Amino acid sequence: MPQTGPIILRVAVPTPLRRTFDYIFPENLLKELDGDLPLPGSRVTIEFGRRTLVALIIEVTDISDIALEKIKPINNILDSSPILSPDLLKLFVWAANYYQYPIGEALFTALPALLRKGEATELPTVKHWRVSELGLSTETESLDRAPRQKALLQFLKDKTAAVPESDLTGLFSATIRNQVDAKGLIESFLAQHEPKLSSDELLQQENLTLDRQQQVAMDAIELHGFSCNLIEGVTGSGKTEIYLQAIEKVLRYNRQALVLIPEISLTPQTEKRFTDRFNTPIVTIHSGMTDKQRLEAWIKAKTGEAKIILGTRSAIFTGFDDLGLIILDEEHDSSYKQQDGFKYSARDLAVIRAQRENIPVILGSATPSLESLNNCIEGRYQHLTLTQRANNATAPSWRVIDLKTEATSCGIAQSTLDAIQQRLDAQQQVLVFLNRRGYAPALVCHNCGWSVDCPKCDSKLTVHRARGRLICHHCDYQQRKPHHCPSCNSTEIMTAGEGTEQSEEFLAKRFPNSEVIRIDRDSTRRKGAMQEFFATADSGKPCILLGTQMLAKGHHFENVTLVVILDADSGLMSADFRSHERIGQLLIQVAGRSGRGKLKGEVIVQTHQPEHPVLDQLFNQGYRPLALQLLQQRQQGMLPPYRPLAVIRAESTYPNQAMDLLNLARKLCDQQRGIEPDIQCLGPLPALMEKRAGRFRFILQVTASQRGQLQRCLSAVATQLDNEKLAQKVRWSIDVDPQEL
Ligand code: ADP
Ligand code: ZN
Ligand code: ZN
Repeated sequence: MPQTGPIILRVAVPTPLRRTFDYIFPENLLKELDGDLPLPGSRVTIEFGRRTLVALIIEVTDISDIALEKIKPINNILDSSPILSPDLLKLFVWAANYYQYPIGEALFTALPALLRKGEATELPTVKHWRVSELGLSTETESLDRAPRQKALLQFLKDKTAAVPESDLTGLFSATIRNQVDAKGLIESFLAQHEPKLSSDELLQQENLTLDRQQQVAMDAIELHGFSCNLIEGVTGSGKTEIYLQAIEKVLRYNRQALVLIPEISLTPQTEKRFTDRFNTPIVTIHSGMTDKQRLEAWIKAKTGEAKIILGTRSAIFTGFDDLGLIILDEEHDSSYKQQDGFKYSARDLAVIRAQRENIPVILGSATPSLESLNNCIEGRYQHLTLTQRANNATAPSWRVIDLKTEATSCGIAQSTLDAIQQRLDAQQQVLVFLNRRGYAPALVCHNCGWSVDCPKCDSKLTVHRARGRLICHHCDYQQRKPHHCPSCNSTEIMTAGEGTEQSEEFLAKRFPNSEVIRIDRDSTRRKGAMQEFFATADSGKPCILLGTQMLAKGHHFENVTLVVILDADSGLMSADFRSHERIGQLLIQVAGRSGRGKLKGEVIVQTHQPEHPVLDQLFNQGYRPLALQLLQQRQQGMLPPYRPLAVIRAESTYPNQAMDLLNLARKLCDQQRGIEPDIQCLGPLPALMEKRAGRFRFILQVTASQRGQLQRCLSAVATQLDNEKLAQKVRWSIDVDPQEL
């Protein structure tokens, strides 16, 4: 670029506008950069409207569509070197385009909040203490008359390195420190907190010897250059051991590894397995962190100080010094797709990122998504399978109980109760799965059938007995239990169906000698509750673990030998095209909690529809045949992964406005067909839950035969919609590769 012309910065600004903005880089700021040109990926401050904002340079150029004299200068440049590498910046730009989200918002919602506020990207320094030159040549005995001072000097002399002040505070008072400091025997200085390593060995725990299937998979994973590998391994087959050994190799080349997992609080064991194995700095990135901790973790990854980064969805946007491997566990999990705002898929971005940075990616799951399976079939991913459990554990056996023919108490069949009793008598643990929290999913009038609905949603209120209220699980509307029916005045108002709260009550009465531990969103609200529950479960004492899908996630319960699925039918009726895939995954994941230790496990499934093709195939043939069957249906229905899909969503308190907006969107899409002939629209249709939190929701499905067409169409339509008055009044968004309709 010629340096004689103006230096124009094309910057991304945190606003909902789908564009970048041009600013001039004034010459007087060049001295801040020692005469170098500013680089993309650096932050600047700008005047934007009447506000001063932090913005990020996307491009440095010397031409602009705007007349030069109209372009404003930036105020300041915040980074002397870019905070985003060129690769990562390109990933952001790609993702913002692909997911049809404004680049500025995308960048600033995915990066640590403090970066948006202009915080420096150096690690905060802490005060350290060490012995001074004078102190080194001074005998501690000279301080015999001041024993505390002598102890402090001796303490620091015994250390090989400087000590952070926080390590001293409990031991020596500030007065003592200042007294010895005043004598010039010790000195303080500011430094970054260096991670403490106990030895130079990379491994602090030996690798397990891989079994044959693990070894075959391990050998097949090429760790140099880009490759995408899907490990389809039954629960407990030792996928994590493969991750650990692949990471070890990458660390030995001095590169870093990124490990993505669906949820950290539910899987404390996973984190522990990494920290137990490696004697290397590991940082975790999760939603429970403060802004400051998040920034620190981000910086440690970026500077290369941390070698392993373990995080949830948003960690895919972490900057690295030298990333060598991405691992994404439980790749089918829907939490990898952000559901609001910047609706990216961390799984798909992991593959894109690996490709761009020319490194391998490993996806793992016992129940891979149909998308990933299809990518294997089409040869884009390498398919590795582990069919046996590691450690000689055997696969659990299934028993299906037909609820049409068996009587139940509180939704539990007698033979199920007997089976639970047997396991408890044998000092084993039982996991009971019911994906409905609360006491009961509905409250109905026994006389006329009236039920309490949420006034703001198309949904019934759930009875919560402990909290003494009826609560909507979609909008959190709450009310008291009515005393009589507003429709017929009867006082015979009863609960219908069971939630975890009620099952807990029933099981506790039925099995008075065993602890019942309920694990759901309500019971784990209290900080530390989850850890307590896991601690009890890990102790191995006989108990009943009862809970929602929180229990389905990767936790390894050694002594659980029976898993009971109380209601396999919920979810079978959903109209969403992914519902059968989801239920198959969920049931297999829950079942996989059984018999992971030395004892053989069993799974009892209660259902009213044992002959339902999804359940039948799942129980008799397993997940893969079901998945292949569902893939065929998707192909026939021209659905993803065979045809790319996006939905445009609109919601408003006035249903007509939301409809009008989508009708307009449809018209614009139809116009695009002149350029992109394969565009097809379906809708506008009401969303699966039409009314939610007082808003009426509609969707327009847009598909094309090729991704490129769909992308170009959506970009054009989005830009046009942005200019419509109606679009200011209605909440609308574009969801590319939606997880739900
Ligand atoms: P997955 O991640 O596939 O669910 P894990 O990696 O958690 O499986 O392994 C299940 C159990 O088997 C763990 O307790 C693990 O320590 C053990 N394990 C894994 N691989 C081996 C091996 N090669 N030899 C012995 N035990 C193993
Ligand atoms: Zn009534
Ligand atoms: Zn509601």
